[in-house]
Amino acid sequence: MLINPAHNAFASTPIKPELPHVLIIYTGGTIGMVQNPHTGAHEPIDFSHLLSHVPELQSVSVNFNTIQFNPPLDSANMNPTLWANMVHVIVDNYDKYDGFVVLHGTDTMAYTASALSYMLQNLAKPVILTGSQLPIGVLRTDGKENLITSIEIAAAKDRIGMPMVPEVCIYFQGALFRGNRAKKLSSEEFKAFSSPNYPPLARVGVHITWAHHHINHISNEDQIKPFYKMGTDVVVLRLFPGITQQTIEAVLGIPSLRGVVLETYGAGNAMTYDWFLNALHNAVKRGIIIMNVSQCLGGSVEMGIYETGNQLSKAGVIGAMDMTTEATVVKLMFLLGQGYSQSEIEKLMLQNISGEITVQ
Ligand code: ASP
Repeated sequence: MLINPAHNAFASTPIKPELPHVLIIYTGGTIGMVQNPHTGAHEPIDFSHLLSHVPELQSVSVNFNTIQFNPPLDSANMNPTLWANMVHVIVDNYDKYDGFVVLHGTDTMAYTASALSYMLQNLAKPVILTGSQLPIGVLRTDGKENLITSIEIAAAKDRIGMPMVPEVCIYFQGALFRGNRAKKLSSEEFKAFSSPNYPPLARVGVHITWAHHHINHISNEDQIKPFYKMGTDVVVLRLFPGITQQTIEAVLGIPSLRGVVLETYGAGNAMTYDWFLNALHNAVKRGIIIMNVSQCLGGSVEMGIYETGNQLSKAGVIGAMDMTTEATVVKLMFLLGQGYSQSEIEKLMLQNISGEITVQ
């Protein structure tokens, strides 16, 4: 996947040095599209002509440049190599910009936001992911507001000139979420995202109202520390009543498998059949890390409440507490990518790396 060199969207507009600088990285997705009036198909726009599609951007008090993935991706095709490309783009441009806006398809945005939150350690600048449900080139688009507000958030500074939100976030229709806490909940509503287990970092109406005490600020002066490697020998296994022994054993028997996100019921409950518990126990003994994530959107996994959860603990399964499936599977990939052992990963999974988990 190639990335075009930066296109300066203000090529003919003088840069105003006193204004903040934001880099817009268009990876693909609906937001960067227009509808072909003849075929009705959605086609990507050329981001070097972003101003002609969104003339409102002339009035935003920000200097911005754009970089676009070539070709732009439907986010269903997102993968760890492309996450690493994004990290490269952000790190290579880190000193030149006050903040970054990543335009991304909504379908896998929560995974990418989680990935960037782990891969960009010591992040001290905003990285705001956004997208839209309707292309930016159609009349009722939600994309313009999402784009313009994301740029404002990426550029926002506090009274002493520090970035308001030095985190990887998702901005969508009036709410700014921590990226690794967000989930796509609707393929229809403009308010497509939510963050069931962590409050929004800002609400946007007439004003932007920041939830200062929920925003992470790094306390040290450390340099940004990028990570590029992800392990991919992981699987998400969603339970349902009637799932067969054959299915469970086939998945857990994948020879290269290192990590499993087991999507269980309620507070982390699953069947207590011997064949199931034995299969889990044997997998853990073979070095596989099994994380228990609830199929419920909100709340935390607590395996001590019911016998059904208790048995999972005894089999060596680790409760993922209040992490989302997206944040958990990508955290496993991240830790596997850094070469940690099974026991190290089991410990690190329950530590807070980038605000993805509520550690009591
Ligand atoms: N399928 C699209 C994508 O995720 C949907 C969107 O852009 O919202 O790339």
